Amino acid sequence: MECGKIPRIEYFLRMFFPPRCICCDCVLAVNVRNYLCSDCEKNIPYINRHQFGNPAGKSISNIYCAFDYEKGIRKAIHHLKFNDRPGNAKILVDMSYPLIKEYFAGVSAQFERANKYDIAIPVPIHSKRRRERGYNQSELIARSLAKKLNIPVSVGTLVKRKNTPPQSSLAKDERYKNPEGAFHVKKPYLIEGRRVLLVDDVITTGSTLEECGKVLLQAGAVCVDAFVIAVRRKLYVQ
Ligand SMILES: [Zn+2]
Repeated sequence: MECGKIPRIEYFLRMFFPPRCICCDCVLAVNVRNYLCSDCEKNIPYINRHQFGNPAGKSISNIYCAFDYEKGIRKAIHHLKFNDRPGNAKILVDMSYPLIKEYFAGVSAQFERANKYDIAIPVPIHSKRRRERGYNQSELIARSLAKKLNIPVSVGTLVKRKNTPPQSSLAKDERYKNPEGAFHVKKPYLIEGRRVLLVDDVITTGSTLEECGKVLLQAGAVCVDAFVIAVRRKLYVQ
C-alpha cells in the first residue's frame, strides 16, 4: 500500500526510525510510504461480504467489516492490542474504509440529515486494562473512522464495569456468557434518540457487541449498527 512521495525531513526520520510492516513487522523501504511489505499485501484476507447480522442477538441491526480475522490483518490487530502499536488503528481504518464506505453513505443532504449515524461509540475496555495498555484500541479505531464520517466520538458514555477475561482465552460456551452484565451506560442523555455506530477491533462470537447494543438500546438509542476491522470466518460461513 503505497501512499505517495516522502518529504525530505520525513525521509531522514525514517532512516533513523525505519518504518515496519504493520502485519509481519519486517523493516520497510525508507523511500516509499508503505504500510505493508509486498508479501503481506499480496495476502490481505479480504472478504466478499461486508454486511452481517449478529449471530449472538438482535440488538445490533447491521455489522460492517472489511477483512477476515486471519493472516496479516490478525497480526496487525494483535500488534495494536498487545505490542504498543497504536498507529495501526488509523492504518487499518484507512485500509477498511474504501471497502465499506458505500454502506455509510446515508441519505443525501437534501433530506433531513446527511449522516447515517449521530455518534460513534467505541466498545470500552476495563479501566485496569486501559491503564496497562495505555489506550483502548477500539477508541483509536472509532476516532479514525468518525473523522471520515464527520461524526463525534463519545468516550466514557459506554463503560465496562466488569474486568472480564479476554474472549480469546475462553472456550466457546464461556465466550457467550463472559460479557453478560459487563457494560453500562453512564450518561444516557448522550445516547437517547441517537443513531449509534458501535466500533470494535474484531468480532469473535458477537456476544460483546450484543451486550453493548442491549444497554445502548435500553438507554434510548434509536438504532445501533457496528463497525469492526475483522470478522472471524466461522461467523459468516455457517
Ligand atoms: Zn509484512
